[in-house]
Amino acid sequence: MKRILVTGGSGFLGSWLCEKLLEQGNEVICVDNFYTGAKRNIYHLLDNKRFELIRHDVTFPLYVECDEIYNLACPASPIHYQRDPVQTVKTCVHGAINMLGLAKRINAKILQASTSEVYGDPAIHPQVEEYWGNVNPIGVRSCYDEGKRCAETLFNCYSMQNATRIKIIRIFNTYGPRMHPHDGRVVSNFILQALQNQDITIYGDGSQTRSFCYRDDLIDGMMKLMATPDEITGPVNVGNPGEFTILQLAENIIDLTGSSSKIIRMPLPSDDPKQRKPDITKARELLNWQPTTPLREGLVKTIEYFEDLLKIDPEFCCGQE
Ligand code: NAD
Ligand code: UDP
Repeated sequence: MKRILVTGGSGFLGSWLCEKLLEQGNEVICVDNFYTGAKRNIYHLLDNKRFELIRHDVTFPLYVECDEIYNLACPASPIHYQRDPVQTVKTCVHGAINMLGLAKRINAKILQASTSEVYGDPAIHPQVEEYWGNVNPIGVRSCYDEGKRCAETLFNCYSMQNATRIKIIRIFNTYGPRMHPHDGRVVSNFILQALQNQDITIYGDGSQTRSFCYRDDLIDGMMKLMATPDEITGPVNVGNPGEFTILQLAENIIDLTGSSSKIIRMPLPSDDPKQRKPDITKARELLNWQPTTPLREGLVKTIEYFEDLLKIDPEFCCGQE
C-alpha cells in the first residue's frame, strides 16, 4: 500500500484517479482549492478510511508525507483558465515548484498532468513528443499553454539537477462522466444542448479537429506511466488518435441523443488550434497502453451521466455558475 497525493483531486479527472487508487488499496490524500472542482465528485469517497481531503491552494507550499504525487491541480477548460489568467500561471508554475519541492524533500515520485496545448496550433500532424509546438506567448490561451510548458521545464530541471523522479504525461482532450456542466468544453456543451433541444453552438465552421479520449482510458494510461521505471520520465502523449471535426462531433451527439437541436455557428475564439491528434507510439511501446473506448461508446456513457444529472440537479446543470 502506498500513500499517494493527488492535487486537483476533486476535479473531473482527479476524482476518478482518487477512486481508482483507492480501489487498488492505496491511501489517498486529495488536495484541492475547489476552484473548478466540486465536493460532489468526492462525496462518496469521504467515508473511506484511506481517503483524506485537504483544502489547499497549490500556489502555497504544502508539507505532507507520501510516496507518489499526481499533480493535476489546474483549471483545464478555456473559459475557466482564462477567467483569472494570472492565477492560472501561478497554479501551473508556483504549483509545480511547490510540488516538486515537496517531492525532492521527501523523495517521492511525481507526475505532471501536462497537455496537448503545449503543441499550440500545431504545424506537425499528428503530434509527436519531439515536436516543440507553435504557441502564441501572449494570446488568450497563453496563461495555460505557457504555464504548462514552464511546468514541464521545471519538472525537467528538477530531474536533471536534483535527480527528482519525474513523469510527464501530455493529455489530449478527455471527456466522460463528472465533467463540469459549466466548463464550456465542447463535449459537455454539445451534450447538454442536445439533451435540452437547444441550438448546438459550433465555433467557426466546425472543420477544426480534436481527438477525444474517454476518461477511463486516460486514467489507465496515467497510472501506467507512474508505474514505469525511473528512467522513463516522458513526456508521453496519452490520448485517442481517432480524429473528428467539431461538426462530426455535433452530428454524432445529435444522432445519439435523438435531439431536434439545430446547429448554429458562433465566432471562432482566437488561437483556437485547427487540428489535434496524438501520435501514441511512445505510449504503446513504453506503457503497453492504447485507448479501448471508441468515441460513440464513450459518448453514450457521458450522455447517460448528463441525462441523470439533468433529472437529479437541473439547477446545477442549467443555472448560472
Ligand atoms: P478540472 O478543472 O475538473 O480539475 C482541476 C482541479 O484542480 C479542480 O478540482 C480545481 O479545483 C483544482 N485546482 C485548480 N487550481 C488549483 C490550485 N491552485 N490549488 C489546488 N487545486 C486547484 O480539470 P480536469 O479536466 O480534471 O484536468 C485535470 C488536469 O489534467 C489539469 O491539470 C489539466 O490541465 C490536465 N488536462 C486535462 C485535459 C482534459 O481534457 N480534461 C486535457 C489536458 C490536460
Ligand atoms: N467548441 C465549439 N463549441 C462549443 C465549445 C467548443 O465549437 O460550444 C470548439 C472550440 O472552438 C474548439 C473545440 O470545440 O475548436 C474544442 O474546444 P474545447 O474547449 O473542448 O477544448 P480545446 O479547444 O482546449 O481543445
